[in-house]
Amino acid sequence: MATTMASRRQQSAFKSGTPARVHRNPFDDVLEQIDRAAAVLHPDPDSLEPLRHPRRQVVVSVPVMMDDGHLRIFEGYRVVYDNSRGPGKGGIRYHPEVNLDDCKALAAWMAWKCAIVDVPFGGAKGGVACDPLKLSDGEVERITRRYISEIFDLIGPTVDIPAPDVGTSPKVMAWVMDTFSMKKGYVEPGVVTGKPIPLGGSGGRLEATGRGLLFIMRETLKRVDRELAGSSVAIQGFGNVGSNAARLLHAAGAKVVAVSDVGGAIYDPRGLDLPRVSAYYRETGRLCGFPGTRKLDNAALLHLDVDVLLPAAMEDQITRDNAGEIQARIIVEGANGPTTPDADEILARRGVLVVPDILANAGGVVVSYFEWVQDRYGYFWKEAEVNERLEEKMVAAFDAVWNTRERFEVDARTAAYILAVDRIMEARKLRGLYA
Ligand code: GLU
Repeated sequence: MATTMASRRQQSAFKSGTPARVHRNPFDDVLEQIDRAAAVLHPDPDSLEPLRHPRRQVVVSVPVMMDDGHLRIFEGYRVVYDNSRGPGKGGIRYHPEVNLDDCKALAAWMAWKCAIVDVPFGGAKGGVACDPLKLSDGEVERITRRYISEIFDLIGPTVDIPAPDVGTSPKVMAWVMDTFSMKKGYVEPGVVTGKPIPLGGSGGRLEATGRGLLFIMRETLKRVDRELAGSSVAIQGFGNVGSNAARLLHAAGAKVVAVSDVGGAIYDPRGLDLPRVSAYYRETGRLCGFPGTRKLDNAALLHLDVDVLLPAAMEDQITRDNAGEIQARIIVEGANGPTTPDADEILARRGVLVVPDILANAGGVVVSYFEWVQDRYGYFWKEAEVNERLEEKMVAAFDAVWNTRERFEVDARTAAYILAVDRIMEARKLRGLYA
């Protein structure tokens, strides 16, 4: 069974042109990361044990009438890993490879993220195993409405609050908000974040993860006596995170030398003209072929000699097979889980500074929190205010992780875990055990 699933995952990864993933259970990585934090914190075992068990795991069947008149059954998931600091929070992913173990790991990472940036949420994640690129808008809408109907009782502004993730968008969030509101009988914008602005979305939410990455990259470079302006950056992935990070980094004076999508990478050592690259991507739907650049494959992008490598695609991209060839001095993780634990060890030995996902890409959930606050208030802030508050949160989180790193003399990922695990265990302890 496991082999069949693995080979199916490999095949679909091969077909879509993305580098094949290492086939492992990502929740095992989560457990390993918890152990690393525990090795430093020495918590009492009764405080630690609950962190090994997600609070709620739900699998639902999502029957949908396809455009060709046939019924298709998709599988949907929603996991709340922890809600000791507040309601579950985390995205909805539409991707052919989504499964329960991925959702468990991604939900745990959301919990760590929310704790590190100190927003009052737990961690959750969900998704539907489907390929949105092969579905019509109508089919995606029907999948969304049925999936949300199936998990209706488990979500809500004080229960569990979804958001966009890989393969979903503000448009999908509008359907989430509408389905939930219609079933409730009143309008409830706070049930989901990442909505279009006219429906209670927040200014700055779309770019928030990219903007957060910029702040984290700037702070990291400062600590090694470098500046963002003039630093060379290679970015893997040109979805919402990668494309916005590229645009904002370019505008801030960084030299973005390579970007990639599923079709491959483009490279110009003098720095890419990002506004023109983005316009080309919007027109053609691909990066390769952009005039005046060299085409590289996705693997080669990861090996470029740059100051900062920003993986912003999928999990498990930097593995023990390629970690030895990474030339970048710093890796700032835009994607969730792009580096495997064994790759981490190799990178640490080679002196590569890895700024972990749960800190680096938390800008999205920070502005999700601001969106939720604004929805619950019914009063909306100017985008400049959102961006300013985002910067404040990201810099504070960076400082807290950096201080933990120095205090315990550990790598930045372990420091981030120590901080997150400690904050979550503290909340659990204060609440005590119910019944
Ligand atoms: N999907 C995003 C993430 O992985 C955002 C989640 C949210 O805003 O709730 O961080």
